[in-house]
Parts: sequence; structure tokens; C-alpha cells
Amino acid sequence: MTTLLDCQQWDAQDPLRALRDLFDLPQGVIYLDGNSLGALPRAVPARVAQVVAEEWGRDLIQSWNSAGWFDLPRRVGDKIAPLIGAGAGEVVATDTTSTNLYKVLSAALHVAAQDAPGRRTIVSERSNFPTDLYIAEALCKERGCTLKLVEPHEIAASLGADVAVLMLTHVNYRTGAMHDMAAVTAAAHAAGALMVWDLAHSAGAVPVDLTGADADYAVGCGYKYLNGGPGAPAFVWAHPRHVDRFWQPLAGWWGHAAPFAFIPGYQPAAGIARFQCGTQPIVSLSALDCALDVFAEAERFGGMAALRAKSLALTDVFIEWVGQLCPGAFTLVTPREHAQRGSQVCLTPTEQLPAGSAYAIVQALIARGVVGDFRAGDAAQPDILRFGFTPLYLSHENVWQAVQALREVLLNQEYALPQFNRKLAVT
Ligand SMILES: *Cc1c(COP(=O)(O)O)cnc(C)c1O
Repeated sequence: MTTLLDCQQWDAQDPLRALRDLFDLPQGVIYLDGNSLGALPRAVPARVAQVVAEEWGRDLIQSWNSAGWFDLPRRVGDKIAPLIGAGAGEVVATDTTSTNLYKVLSAALHVAAQDAPGRRTIVSERSNFPTDLYIAEALCKERGCTLKLVEPHEIAASLGADVAVLMLTHVNYRTGAMHDMAAVTAAAHAAGALMVWDLAHSAGAVPVDLTGADADYAVGCGYKYLNGGPGAPAFVWAHPRHVDRFWQPLAGWWGHAAPFAFIPGYQPAAGIARFQCGTQPIVSLSALDCALDVFAEAERFGGMAALRAKSLALTDVFIEWVGQLCPGAFTLVTPREHAQRGSQVCLTPTEQLPAGSAYAIVQALIARGVVGDFRAGDAAQPDILRFGFTPLYLSHENVWQAVQALREVLLNQEYALPQFNRKLAVT
């Protein structure tokens, strides 16, 4: 069995250990929810204060030019690009993941219709993040298209001659299962469909190579593993072969070729800039811009490859210890194989524990300073305890502490206490 001493030795040799100091985490908290809201990078508060006091307060409207506000969405996009295998000038940070998904699905349906008019179906996974499915549903309703939802093992067989777009989230938000991006994209193309990836749980968590996989469109989230802060702008990428083929439906002035010409007719900007709609949230964008410098710093210590190696080491030892210290209490929902999972581990209670105890276990852990989250199940899927592992600021010793806390919650039956069974608005 791996020991605490082993972990302390790994931590002492961890090439990424200096990165933890780039974050401001509360004392005594082991944060296993960076997959839902990334932690605060230490440099962000001063940067945001400077944007507010100097760029806005002092320089006022000149800052659109003098502080580079106007180009900020594209500069932030250029910082995200190397994390997802995109080229310079191919990514823009803007709007929300939901809004960007609407734009790229709309673009993909349009491009598919130009190439093959009979294709009018979007295929996705039934267990995809609900907002992705809601957006696809609304778009299909508007365009008279069909949304077909399938299980992961049915994807290949579902790609018939009617399918315009395959839209998947690379790492599943509930289970942590990861698709083989290159293989799935190749299967979509072989079937004549376009491939849209949602990278919400991948960008900054696992190495992604959109160009290498030859994907068509992608969106992703700024406030999860990229640590941009609550409601941080999301991002959007379109392959250069498609980007100039369509306007995108939310043709606002920020996506216009000459927004400050104030002319009545819409002319889309060249390239990815056309995926912007209206005036951008500069304070939020500045926070994300600053947060992304952590990844530039991580490059000095091996970048995404080193982060991935550490994430797998942390999650491996977490899985090992949960099995040993909480024997029989949980079933692992996340695939064990490295190639098939992202940077989170999900557990579901077995019948050893009272039915419905997953929520209270998570609450009891939070009270002990171990912050994970809970996702409710339904007829088709179980309740889960979800633990996200951000190798930028977590150590092996943190994993040991987290599993000890979990063990104590079970030994003391803390999940039975009423204060851990009151449901909060946001889980
Ligand atoms: C987190 C997440 C979102 C969030 O969308 P917002 O529009 O930013 O609220 C969307 N899709 C997936 C797969 C996610 O994990």
C-alpha cells in the first residue's frame, strides 16, 4: 500500500510544486472542486483592482485603445490556444459556453447543409451536460432539425446519412469519462458529419489537440480549470477551413468587420473575431487573462504534459486509498484506464451506506474542509460524489488528507446528521 511517507516524498520531488504558491487558497481547505469553479490565482485581485482604478477610473474611454481592451478577447484566446491545440488567431474568449455552443452548432448546421443538404440531425450523448442539450434542442426546434441522444457505445452506429453534426463533451461532467478525440472525430468525418467538441472539463485539465484531431468546432469554459473566476468568459474555436464560411447567428457589432464605422449592413470580421456579439466584459476578461499566466508559468515545468502526469498520479492514489480505507463503501464511476478519464474521480455509494447519503457525505466533507461536490442521479444514473483534481495546487499529501476525512465521515456516520441533509440552492 502507498503510504503517507511515499506521498510526502513525491511532493518533495514534484516539479510542479512551486505552482501552488501562485494560488490563494484558504488555510485548511483541500479544494477538490476546481472542475466546477477554479481557485483564485494570487495575481488576479491586484490586476482586477488596477483595471478598475486605472484603466476604467483614470483613463476612462481611452482604455479601449490605450489599454488594449478592444483586442482583449483575442489576446486571451491566444493564451488559451496552446492549451487546446489551436493556432494563434484561432480562438476568441467571449460570452458563455452555452451561447458559444449555440453559435458553433448553428455554424456547423449551416456548413453541413452547404456540403450535404439532406443532413439535418445533431447527435449527442444522453448524459451530456444539460445546457448543451438544451441549446441543441432549442436550435433544432428553430431550424426544424432533429436532436438524437444516444449512449456512448451507440455513437458510432448512430452516425447515419442524416447526421450533420456530432456534438460531444470531451470529458463527461458527471462521470469523468473521456472520449478519444482523434478517433471519434475521424469516425464522425468518415460518416460525413462535422465534429463539435465541448472542452469545459478538458481545457487546462488534460492535453487537447484540436488541430491534430482535425476537429471542426470547439467551445469551452473559462471558470473551471482555467481559473478565470465566477462567470468568466468562455471560449470558441472554429477550424480555419470553416471560420469564414458562416456569419454565426448572433451577428452583433463586435463581430462586424468595422464596428466603429457604424454602417447599417452587417459584414462579418475575418476569422474567429466574428464569433463575438456585443461589448465584452472587460473586468472579467482581465481576470481570466491574468489567471492564464499560471499556465505560461507551468510551461517552465513541463506544461500540460507534466500537469497530466501529476493529475493521473493524484487520481490513481485517491482511487487506491478510497478502496483501502473505505472498503466496499463506494463504486468507482470514473473509468480506471488513464486514456479514458479526465482529471476528476466520481464515486457512488454502495448499499453499505444508507440510500440517498451521497449528498450528506459531501456536505460532511465540506465541513471538514474537503470541498468536492454532489450530482444527483435519476432513474438512469446514480447519485455521485465528484472530486476534481487540479494538479496546479494539489499535493499527494492533500489526497491522503482528503481520503482520511472521507473515512472519518463514514466511521462517525456524519452523513446521518441533520445539518448535512439540508439541501442548498447550488450543489
Ligand atoms: C460547465 C459547463 C457548461 C457551462 O456553461 P455556461 O454557459 O458557462 O454556464 C457547459 N457545458 C459543459 C459541458 C460544462 O461542463
